[in-house]
Amino acid sequence: MRPMKKTFIEDIAQRLRIIPNLDREHSSSESVDLRKYPDPENWHDHIELDANEWPKRVERRYSLVPTTCFNCESACGMLAYVDKESGQVAKFEGNPHHPGSRGRNCAKGPATINQINDTERILYPMKRVGKRGEGGWQRIYWDQALDEIAAKIRTSLKTEAKDRVVYHVGRPGNEGYVERVLKAWGVDGHNSHTNICSAGARTGYSLWHKHDRPSPDHSNAKVILLTSSHLETGHYFNPHAQRILEGMMDGAKLIVIDPRLSNTASMADHWLPTWPGSESALFLAWAKMILERDLYDRDFVENWVNWEDWLEADYPDEPSTFERFIELLLEEYAEYTPEFAAAECRIPVEQVIEAGEAVANAGSRLSTHVWRSAAIGNLGGWQVARTLHLLNVLTGSVGTEGGTSPNSWSKFSPELFDEPPAPDGWNELHFPLEYTLSHYEMSHILPHLVKDGRGTMDVYFTRVFNPVWTYPDGFSWIGMLEDEESVGCHVALTPTWNETAFFADYVLPMGHASERHDINSYATSAGKWVAFRQPVLREYARREGREVEFTREVNPGEVWEEDEFWNELSWRIDDGTMGIREHFMSPYREGERITVDEYYQYTFERVPGLPEAAAAEGLDALGYMRKHGAFLIEEATYSKHEQEGWPTPSGKQELYSPTMVEFGYPEHAIPHYRIRSHVHPDNLQGEDEYCLLPNFRLPQHIHSRSANSKWLVEIGHRNPIWIHPKDSAKLGVAEGDLLKIETEIGWFVDKVWVTEGIKPGVVGCSHHIGRWRRAQDQGNRFLSNEVSIEDIGDGKKRMRTISGVGPWESDDPDTNRVWWRDGGVHQNITHAVQPDPISGAHCWLQKVRLSRPSADEKYGDVEVDTEKSFEYYKRWNQMAKQRETHPRGERRPLWMKRPLSPKKEHWFIPE
Ligand code: SF4
Repeated sequence: MRPMKKTFIEDIAQRLRIIPNLDREHSSSESVDLRKYPDPENWHDHIELDANEWPKRVERRYSLVPTTCFNCESACGMLAYVDKESGQVAKFEGNPHHPGSRGRNCAKGPATINQINDTERILYPMKRVGKRGEGGWQRIYWDQALDEIAAKIRTSLKTEAKDRVVYHVGRPGNEGYVERVLKAWGVDGHNSHTNICSAGARTGYSLWHKHDRPSPDHSNAKVILLTSSHLETGHYFNPHAQRILEGMMDGAKLIVIDPRLSNTASMADHWLPTWPGSESALFLAWAKMILERDLYDRDFVENWVNWEDWLEADYPDEPSTFERFIELLLEEYAEYTPEFAAAECRIPVEQVIEAGEAVANAGSRLSTHVWRSAAIGNLGGWQVARTLHLLNVLTGSVGTEGGTSPNSWSKFSPELFDEPPAPDGWNELHFPLEYTLSHYEMSHILPHLVKDGRGTMDVYFTRVFNPVWTYPDGFSWIGMLEDEESVGCHVALTPTWNETAFFADYVLPMGHASERHDINSYATSAGKWVAFRQPVLREYARREGREVEFTREVNPGEVWEEDEFWNELSWRIDDGTMGIREHFMSPYREGERITVDEYYQYTFERVPGLPEAAAAEGLDALGYMRKHGAFLIEEATYSKHEQEGWPTPSGKQELYSPTMVEFGYPEHAIPHYRIRSHVHPDNLQGEDEYCLLPNFRLPQHIHSRSANSKWLVEIGHRNPIWIHPKDSAKLGVAEGDLLKIETEIGWFVDKVWVTEGIKPGVVGCSHHIGRWRRAQDQGNRFLSNEVSIEDIGDGKKRMRTISGVGPWESDDPDTNRVWWRDGGVHQNITHAVQPDPISGAHCWLQKVRLSRPSADEKYGDVEVDTEKSFEYYKRWNQMAKQRETHPRGERRPLWMKRPLSPKKEHWFIPE
């Protein structure tokens, strides 16, 4: 056995990655050296020296309460340090007992303290005064808000409509809570942000095996292959980043495919700056290399792939042998040579071959990932995920140690105390007929569908969701929200003001991460875990012997937590005749309403292994989660298919998709590169048109919830145009100059950043910067510009920056120390919607023209033609309509997932 302590030379060699990570020989990749952390037994009485009192040694006493971060999907564990003197949270640090994050957080975790102490946060329910969007508000009591909203929902439900009460969610952060509520109301009313996020990749993965997300085991990989500008800056950032580094410390090669030199790409062994949308050509060339060199895993492919179905369908006269299958697949992929890939990707052929050899020789330890980036950027982006997974299939690295598993193997699904029946209807505003394979709701074209006369809404909840700012074509969102015929009542559930809340009827303050309950479980590693987001002051009060009935009793102002809001609202909707209340009764106390504690108690009692672990500490399951905040259910979830098979019609990995054939896309029966992106060079008008890459963000920003986080904003607050020196020379612009970027529907003016970190012909601009408020609006002053919005006729809108960021007086002395003045530019609002006809995903990349602005066009100016945007939507919509096919009258494939699935009969088009 190795000695515990490394030598100095070993330490240096390990850091330089000359030798493997010696530490890992005596500590599992999933473990943490807990000696560095306070013992949970002492968490209610933790003593630290007060750094602010240095050099004096002043002790402070804390109660450390575990919860989880809400600032991205990873739900990393955090420990809230509750100062026992003030009874308030002093800071957040990592929770070492959380199996996903293992004590670490990114910058956004500790910045939760900024969010809860934001001097501009919404503390009371607000109701609009005057016209919607004018900016007038009055504070009201919760009772009034609940009664008025409940009455509107009741009226809608009593019409028997199943699609006119809608909950539209940005960051979900919980497992099944609201879906259950919507089912209790009987509405097909779930909408999400997924079609601007992950729907492209989900479609590609689900075609293979129904599971629609990947779970790479980076720690144990030999080769880590990332197609992502998003990884280190988005979902699973911290949990993945630490495992990528572990894998690399252990000798893994890192390959990053991205036209932009992201932080991850800068650490890579191979950075392949491919032309956006060409990634599938590269993966198919590598697939061909694997096949030609006999490096495929015969056992896996022969037994777990439906190759026989392909032969039967397309080569009925050929012998149905595995050898013949390989020959035919090679013939099928003959065009995908390294030279072809190099030409499509616009990278050297040597680079294609060199990186391809690493992939081809990775065997079962190839961990791959694509999330947003190419899969959500391009027309046909879904095929990027499909061809990427082909590499896992061929190398036999599906479900293996060091390979890539389906995420659902590592995700815990809570058992709920009550399951109302599935909705008895189908919402065609969310799943229009022509988008037969759209994996999630067609949320980004909602305003266009409404304008097209496809439907309207009685009550529309936006919840931690800011489409006016985050989505493309935000002026169309404003148009829909301002129109009371389209949206009868808009309720914004949000902890902080945002551009969408400005156009609401009610703004209801909801708790931040440390002020609410949620169950979390995500595939951030090879294992399976469950975590508990809990309101920390409620738990602190309990530890101190004070009983708290509702979380709002300990939250600031009149901030509620959502769980209690949904329970109370549901109760008030039902006038005693609607059968809703029966779904909110305690499973423990006959005839009484359920409490939030009972809800979580019921679920945690049913987590495999948790009651036993709790009992070993003399606790019940809820007590264990309150104490530790997380529980590891399975150390690793490899090879589950050997017991469970694959949940596809064939029971196998579907190289050949009968579904694609039946639903009108026979040319996509097997993975191919048959769709050229809308930003393929052939679709650009020569060198005068560029590809705008907008779908990346700065690592310290949250989608649209960091504008009130002073620490995060201080680090990054601008979004200049990234432009390669060759292009800046061609355009005659230098660092800091202004450029006018014209999209299909409008334009914006931004500053230039000249960098070799972007591919020539491509320009980049980070979203999540460029927040705004009008003179009559409030909140987010750390990052928002004050703007004017003008209607300039014929559907044209103009936004101009009146003033940038500046200091202001408040109870927080830091607001008076704000030194930055530039709040960036709102680019998303100038983007045209581009719904992929197959996956339904928004294709984020935009064709743009670049020029010098005229004298009266200033930095931050934006102009959009909403009539043009509607016409443009119709052109893309036509692509789906032209291929609309419904075998057996099915709206969409019966076997594919759908969030909040209605009753089976509604999956068929009514006669
Ligand atoms: S990775 Fe996500 S969940 Fe984890 S600390 Fe950062 S923002 Fe929070």
